[in-house]
Amino acid sequence: MSVFDELLDKIGIGRESTERTAVHYECRRCGTTLSRRDRACPSCGSEEVAAIPL
Ligand SMILES: [Zn+2]
Repeated sequence: MSVFDELLDKIGIGRESTERTAVHYECRRCGTTLSRRDRACPSCGSEEVAAIPL
């Protein structure tokens, strides 16, 4: 690895920096919008949470 490559690597150029993935969570049964932490829907109790990448 050249010095130049090493420098680019240090400042993060050339890497896949799209680590922030926005995901929308909603109940599959009733469509209530859930938060990431929700394991079950607060309005109908369904545990089927759909994760939709935005
Ligand atoms: Zn629901």
